[in-house]
Amino acid sequence: MAGFRTHITVSAAVGVVYGGAAVQPMGFSTEAGVLAAGVTAVGGMLPDLDSDSGVPVREMFGLAAAVLPLMLVPRLMHADISKEGILATLLFSYLIIRYVVSDLFKRLSVHRGMYHSIPAMLIAGLCVYLAYHSPDRTVRFLLAGGVMLGFLSHLILDEIYSVDWRGIKPKLKSSAGSALKLGSSSMFATATCYLILGGLLYLVYLDYKKSGGELVLSSVSF
Ligand SMILES: [Zn+2]
Repeated sequence: MAGFRTHITVSAAVGVVYGGAAVQPMGFSTEAGVLAAGVTAVGGMLPDLDSDSGVPVREMFGLAAAVLPLMLVPRLMHADISKEGILATLLFSYLIIRYVVSDLFKRLSVHRGMYHSIPAMLIAGLCVYLAYHSPDRTVRFLLAGGVMLGFLSHLILDEIYSVDWRGIKPKLKSSAGSALKLGSSSMFATATCYLILGGLLYLVYLDYKKSGGELVLSSVSF
């Protein structure tokens, strides 16, 4: 299994390339490119939220608690909520993520369970897409793509590390195939994961319909 440091190094490097490509040749603003790079780097840390080894997980929840509510700001402003209302929402979101959600995570997760899977990667992407409000849908695609790319780099790295390269013939360790997967041995975890995925897809569909159903991709030029 690759360590925390390896994961964040690789996903940050992938993020730099992705953010750079977003600006040139894809034509996004520099700010959007930098944000996409950051989201990609964070995406590479997400699957290990299921690990029980303290520091990275605690750090991740600290970061998530601060950043996720901030990503809601454009949406809250759009909903005409007062300044006090927005600040209160940020504060309570921080407390809930940092203490309540992180505690739930600790109780429910199994390392290398469904957090390390393709559907979990899609869930991360859809969450970012839904949480981030922007009149320019392509920015939302960009950020969702970034988090999924970072996530994918983590899963691939875990699979690479599950090959034992020592000896004449490379051998597979028992952890092989436990990162890039579509389902786990736990029916309950797998079903819950797909249920969440389905629910999010439905929300994206509603969001898409509300916006008039136009899929604007014309501003992206390759
Ligand atoms: Zn991992």
